[in-house]
Amino acid sequence: MDIHEYQAKEILARFGVPVPRGGLAYSPEQAGYRARELGGSAWVVKAQIHSGGRGAAGGVKLCRSEAEVQEFAATLFGRQLVTKQTDANGKGVYRLWVEGASDIKQELYLGFVLDRKSERIMIVASAHGGMEIEDLAEKDPNSLRRMTIDPAVGLSEFQARELAFQLGLKGGQIAQMVTILKACYRAYRDLDAMMVEINPLVITGTGDLVALDAKMSFDTNALFRRPEIAELRDRSQEDPRESTAGDHGLAYVGLDGDIGCIINGAGLAMATMDMIKLAGGEPANFLDIGGGASPERVVRAFRTVLADRNVSVILVNIFAGINRCDWVAQGVVLAYRELGLTLPVVVRLAGTNVEEGRRIIDASGLPLITADTLEDAAMKAVATRQQLAA
Ligand code: GDP
Ligand code: MN
Repeated sequence: MDIHEYQAKEILARFGVPVPRGGLAYSPEQAGYRARELGGSAWVVKAQIHSGGRGAAGGVKLCRSEAEVQEFAATLFGRQLVTKQTDANGKGVYRLWVEGASDIKQELYLGFVLDRKSERIMIVASAHGGMEIEDLAEKDPNSLRRMTIDPAVGLSEFQARELAFQLGLKGGQIAQMVTILKACYRAYRDLDAMMVEINPLVITGTGDLVALDAKMSFDTNALFRRPEIAELRDRSQEDPRESTAGDHGLAYVGLDGDIGCIINGAGLAMATMDMIKLAGGEPANFLDIGGGASPERVVRAFRTVLADRNVSVILVNIFAGINRCDWVAQGVVLAYRELGLTLPVVVRLAGTNVEEGRRIIDASGLPLITADTLEDAAMKAVATRQQLAA
């Protein structure tokens, strides 16, 4: 789960990371008021969306008067901000963060991620941070410093100092960097984070280190024991199709095509996507019904897939182990009756109780298209959609 920049800054500040003073705004007037409240003569107004790359997309601006703050804020509110990291729809801007402007001498990069290979938290850092960090990572990957942390020992003082030296920091900056690194590490570990990123971490005119941007994301499987993190969730930043499915215990992934897919298991879902593409079609989404799906859960799966207006054909592909083909078949029949389905549905069932499942489908008298294999199912789904399009 992602959170907003201002929320990440608040958390990291609590652990000891220096951040600029700022305030949240829900309206242009409030943004102007925040600037006055903060004082000074320059402010940075920042769109709060769950995405980086806001600077390059026009979501961050240095303003020199209260009026300018208010004007820029007015152009941002309610806008869908499209960045390099979002899809073509972008993310809605409903909150702004107004911050006293910093005097930047140098921009550094600092990230904490989970390195699956070493099974450890890894620090990634660079003396050249800011908006071009991705280009740098591509062109000159050796300029990124990497360091893994032994979970039994934690981040040791000498490791933190070594990294600070490698980044070319001097004098008092070394101790500041050690404090920041330890704070980020503790925040990561104590809050079940998956990622902490400060980009840029800047050296100011007075030579001090300050986090100008912050990003954190959390392990959703641990949210049950982190209520203070769970409540930071902002549904306005999520794909509504995916969050509604999640509420019903279904895993949904939205895509761009027109074949809706109801499948069990991520592996079979991947194979089905490949088969559809091979047959010349494009999946609109896939929905994983999980194991032991009841007929009611299958109906909810249909409802979720149908909410996507691009769907013109539905493909049900179940390889039942823990699942039962008869329950899935009952669910398909129930969905037809309850949802007044008019779209063609291709059904492929295999595994546990498959005979009973097929019998239910055949006895239903519904215009279901049945298929025996995954390939057969994908080809029939694509052929059906082509007939509709013709
Ligand atoms: P991102 O593009 O979504 O990562 O947003 P950032 O918060 O990183 O802001 C983008 C860029 O705006 C930064 O890399 C800085 O160069 C610039 N910026 C942000 N805050 C300030 C500030 O207080 N003063 C100045 N001069 N530039 C800033
Ligand atoms: Mn940034």
